[in-house]
Amino acid sequence: MAADRLQQWRRLSQAGFMLLFLIAPAVDLLRFDLHERQLWLFGQPWSLGLSDLQAGRVGVSHTVLTLLTHGLLPLLLLVGGFLAVAWRQGRLYCGWLCPHFSLVEAINAVLQRACGRLSLWDRTPVPLAGGRHPQRRWWVVYGLACVLAGTAWGITLLCYLLPPAEVWGGLLHGSSTPGQLRFIVIASGVFALEFALARHLFCRYGCAVGLFQSLVWMANPRARVVGFARERAAHCRGCVPDATRPTVQASACEQACPMRLTPRQTKRWMFACVQCGRCLTACDRAQHTRAALEGGVGVTPLLQWTVGSDAFRESLRQRRPVAAVAAPPAAAPAPTPARTLPPPDPKTEES
Ligand code: SF4
Ligand code: SF4
Repeated sequence: MAADRLQQWRRLSQAGFMLLFLIAPAVDLLRFDLHERQLWLFGQPWSLGLSDLQAGRVGVSHTVLTLLTHGLLPLLLLVGGFLAVAWRQGRLYCGWLCPHFSLVEAINAVLQRACGRLSLWDRTPVPLAGGRHPQRRWWVVYGLACVLAGTAWGITLLCYLLPPAEVWGGLLHGSSTPGQLRFIVIASGVFALEFALARHLFCRYGCAVGLFQSLVWMANPRARVVGFARERAAHCRGCVPDATRPTVQASACEQACPMRLTPRQTKRWMFACVQCGRCLTACDRAQHTRAALEGGVGVTPLLQWTVGSDAFRESLRQRRPVAAVAAPPAAAPAPTPARTLPPPDPKTEES
């Protein structure tokens, strides 16, 4: 299924960027050395030429030129390019690359195995793939995952500020300075708590990178957005069973969204959408299942990405409550009796 391939590509890009994030300081790809007060970029010391000016080795005009070519211009290109992508594509960085969001999804999956929910603050459980039930022993894994993720974050952050060989050497040989240990303990604790209790909140409102992408994306009505085929809204009925009330039907897209959004809402309610496409994949699967049960063929999912003028129309839609949108039209045939759909394929279902 194309939607499944989309998620495979996303997983691959997330894994690649996570690796890059972890090894970047060790190979001097990007780090700031507090000892030397030196930025390292792409394996080279990156200088703005101020020390040369102070030492009298170069003149003012040369320093101004260096400031422009080594400071202002690359910064403008980087920030401008990043925001240009966000303007057209939304929070693509968040959903496809950001190491924090990769961990958010991984920790969601562990928590779901422990209590059937993707966040401690969720009220509605999300059924596990293959009809499995949550098991309490996963609470231990959840706690360990948060502590491990927090510790990895704390140590990696220090490696971006001090030579990684010094940080890791100190930890392995027990020769870290009290300051380094204090930093690692405090940073790891804060990150572990954030991963356990507030990871979604951080992505929504706490992270400047995510916030600015959202602001730029919201300003462009033609930007990529999850479009909903409202004219076929009746097909949403009977999407998947509600985990707590087996006779009631729930929405596969809402259950799949790692940011706990309602993907059928209009753009104004999707500020925190990270363009992960998991709602599209869930909708695709649900509609295939529905078609198979009803003997239909050639099903198109109700949720699909739209961009350009289609996105413009989508963005302009007035807010309508999803329940009203999903309800069948008055003239529609009587609803089919409530039924339990088969569980998703555990091989393809994501945690
Ligand atoms: S909001 Fe920040 S932390 Fe969250 S996914 Fe986006 S960039 Fe990553
Ligand atoms: S609405 Fe869809 S694309 Fe956006 S974050 Fe949720 S699942 Fe991902």
